[in-house]
Amino acid sequence: MQFDSDYKMLIDGELVGANDTIDVVNPATEEAFATCPRASSDDLEAAVSAAKRAFSSWKKTPIEERRSALRKASALIMEHADAFASLFTKEQGRPTAIAKEEIMGAAYWFAGTADLDLPVDVTEDTDTRRIEVHHEPLGAVCAIVPWNFPVLLASWKIAPAILTGNTIVLKPSPFTPLCTLKLGELLQDVFPPGVINIISGGDELGPWMTSHKGFSKITFTGSTATGRKVMESASSDLKKVTLELGGNDAAIVLPDVDVDKVAEQIFAGAFSNTAQICVATKRLYVHEAIYDAMRDRLHDLAKAATVGDGSNQGNRFGPIQNKAQFDRVTNLLEDAKTSGLTMLYGSDVPKKGFFIPLTIVDNPPENSRVVQEEAFGPILPMMKFSDIDEVIDRVNDTEYGLAGAVWSSDIEKATKVAAAMESGTVWINQNLQSTPLTPLTGHKQSGVGSENGVYGLREFTQPKAIYIPKSASNVA
Ligand code: NAD
Repeated sequence: MQFDSDYKMLIDGELVGANDTIDVVNPATEEAFATCPRASSDDLEAAVSAAKRAFSSWKKTPIEERRSALRKASALIMEHADAFASLFTKEQGRPTAIAKEEIMGAAYWFAGTADLDLPVDVTEDTDTRRIEVHHEPLGAVCAIVPWNFPVLLASWKIAPAILTGNTIVLKPSPFTPLCTLKLGELLQDVFPPGVINIISGGDELGPWMTSHKGFSKITFTGSTATGRKVMESASSDLKKVTLELGGNDAAIVLPDVDVDKVAEQIFAGAFSNTAQICVATKRLYVHEAIYDAMRDRLHDLAKAATVGDGSNQGNRFGPIQNKAQFDRVTNLLEDAKTSGLTMLYGSDVPKKGFFIPLTIVDNPPENSRVVQEEAFGPILPMMKFSDIDEVIDRVNDTEYGLAGAVWSSDIEKATKVAAAMESGTVWINQNLQSTPLTPLTGHKQSGVGSENGVYGLREFTQPKAIYIPKSASNVA
């Protein structure tokens, strides 16, 4: 299979092009290096019809067959991980070795999800009756994915939807369509026609999909602003929605940690993938007793960071993925600078490409834009605190609630702090962790519903209660 050309959509088991195409730009060079099909409304109709047709037989396919197809998909992805990773770097920007981790992560998710189970619940079992709650698939699922983790997040949608007996039409971001289209090509013969459809398109395609009456469910990952539009669009026919949205995640560092050890881990949690991670540390609260030492250590790490084209060995951080995001992050940096905030810049970055130096903002006021907004780029505001209750209030004073972290050598104390944080996930002395068994879920405006684990599977099913009498004596 070729990874450097022939990017086609998968519709009804066939690889198809489109009359129109979209340029795909390498963010490290700012040059278009490939094109992908721009789906027309007819292409969408074909994909939805195929998914609906395939649903009638896929939902009856024994679950063991569905599991084994997911495991086969996992093995195929692993087999092609190197080819995926170098294409990934070109379209997404992330250094290839780290890009490969995402591909292996997707393979791991396909296999891990295949092992999940959603058994029948029995809510009553007495002498007279038994009440069973079955979990029925919903139908054709509309799946929309962002550009920061295009392959992993596609696997988070495809695997649970398919395991539970649904079919799917998935759209990658127009900025990162290529690996996802190749994933479709790879899976072409693993699933029956129409079970998985992958279509690429421009800004018009997302709204066409979310308003399409043929879908029974929308699973969306992206910004909170777009999530609101998706929910509004779904409201016309009350489609079920799962929304995984933005975050402005806080980490709290208590004074009892080893600064050198923790700084490395916080640095990775804040800046990995050039800080384009929904659950990255985006606000860092450090106890005043260790604040200066932590700031200086983080600044040293930023100054030593290798930032550049991810296809060059040795670079740990790539560019911002696209021009629009680059402009947003640059604007936030300019605002912080002109507001007189103290900016601590990391190493120099290439002039060409969407590169921004890893930057720490030294103790900005809580109400500054750089603290209040999700940067989704390499700007880390770090703030001092002295009182734990007061800092928890500051941490919770946001519309977001995706993930957070607490760092302390006193696990019991850290667990109490974690309990007080209003977010769907809290890590203690670690960050950026997730597993196929554990729900990722957004508190407040970070989301609706959950992905992963049995919680995630439930999102793709309709509970159906069946009341079964123990005898037919009242009717016969
Ligand atoms: P985005 O909301 O701009 O786009 C996400 C996807 O939605 C893309 O495929 C896009 O083409 C599509 N889209 C855009 N407008 C649409 C519309 N009106 N209707 C339907 N679809 C539409 O987000 P992005 O910039 O690609 O991604 C960054 C954001 O995603 C950040 O806010 C980040 O925190 C969030 N994110 C959240 C999670 C999570 O699990 N909670 C994971 C990754 C990223």
